[in-house]
Amino acid sequence: MIRTNTFEVVPRTDRDAEILRRMLDASASLWNEVNYARRQRFFDDENIWETEKFYDRYVGVLGGASAQTVIRRNSEAWKSFFALCENPDESPSPPGYWGNEDDGRELRTYVRNDAYDIQWGDRSRLEIRIGQDLKDEYGLGYYERLSLEVRGEPHWEGDPGRLVIEYDELSETFRASQPVTVPDDRQDSPLAHQTAALDLGVNTLVACTTSGGQQYRYNGKPLFERFRETTEHIADLRAKLPDDQPTSRRIRRLYRKRTRRRDHAVKALVRDLVSRLHQQGVATVIVGDLSGGFEAKWTAEVNEMVHNFWTYRKFTNQLQAVCEEYGMEVVVHSEAGTSQSCPDCGRIETTTRHQRTLTCACGFDGHADLAASRNLLTQATENSIAGPTARPMRFKWDNHEWRPHEPASAGSTDSAQRRSARDAPENPNEQRMNPQDAATASGDGW
Ligand SMILES: [Zn+2]
Repeated sequence: MIRTNTFEVVPRTDRDAEILRRMLDASASLWNEVNYARRQRFFDDENIWETEKFYDRYVGVLGGASAQTVIRRNSEAWKSFFALCENPDESPSPPGYWGNEDDGRELRTYVRNDAYDIQWGDRSRLEIRIGQDLKDEYGLGYYERLSLEVRGEPHWEGDPGRLVIEYDELSETFRASQPVTVPDDRQDSPLAHQTAALDLGVNTLVACTTSGGQQYRYNGKPLFERFRETTEHIADLRAKLPDDQPTSRRIRRLYRKRTRRRDHAVKALVRDLVSRLHQQGVATVIVGDLSGGFEAKWTAEVNEMVHNFWTYRKFTNQLQAVCEEYGMEVVVHSEAGTSQSCPDCGRIETTTRHQRTLTCACGFDGHADLAASRNLLTQATENSIAGPTARPMRFKWDNHEWRPHEPASAGSTDSAQRRSARDAPENPNEQRMNPQDAATASGDGW
């Protein structure tokens, strides 16, 4: 079975950072050159597989193993394209390029498993082979490798596969993922038996309850606000365009920026949450089925924005991928009725929602999104879940990572949840809501 270790790669000096960027950049241009040539030959109905001259051109920077791996990856992409072409129901497109001129290139490279080495320890280290030309240019010895610091812990031990190193422009970090083949007898922790359920929304991006009584809440309000501002900005720019011009370079750039910002935060959320759940011994993650859309609780305009914001499939794919790294299973379950019923007594007719708070005649009083995730957990596991045993943890996005909003303290019960739902504002921005926000925030339990 294949699992993936992911970690941050940190160059120790400016020189090393430059070497790494040169490698990533050369990989992108190698991919694009090979792909361009193949597309030309494909449309001219010629043999596309001949690539020797590209290898020769890039081997000096990338080294033989990486140059070959990038070309091989491109060949794999073409092979799957041809395989799809044989299916009459498909109309596939030939493989695309890495990045484009507006974006700059996507910076990414592949390192074959025999061309790198990772030493895990107090000061973990990654060493990769680089091309001879780069070594000469930057004064590395003939047998020397590029040595980089590694931040993160390996979750899996096994036979290492092809390493992928990517540069994330937004966080300005290099990230690596390493697939490893794990022997079947030591895949999952025997301790893991807990279940967690996730409720997705906008003011709260994800509310989560575990069967062990932990609750987590990720505040999405500032992020969604920014998404909305950019959307409005795009609409303004579009209104000013001449009739015969549907879009502009600036609009396209804003769209990409909007998407990248959201993707960055959501990806980081998934990673943060899943690693916390792993530590709590969670083996199964239940996520509400939103493929049919959110409950009709927003105005049409806001609803459309919510749909643009929450690309549900993208989210579940990411969740699935990261859970797989940790050996956790994802189950999709209908979330019908989870936002209205009382997590304590299960009744619907006795509950009242006021903004973000759900109260019930039985005495329950808590955060509505957390209540919804607890209801989903109860429904999906067909078990009644005891009330939370710890104070819910809240997180907010600082454009780089999700930070706990307050230190978690153990031992308190529902009353703590009540306090945190009622009092302390999520963040200063929430204090000054404009009328539109108020409309968004009322009536759906935010
Ligand atoms: Zn109740």
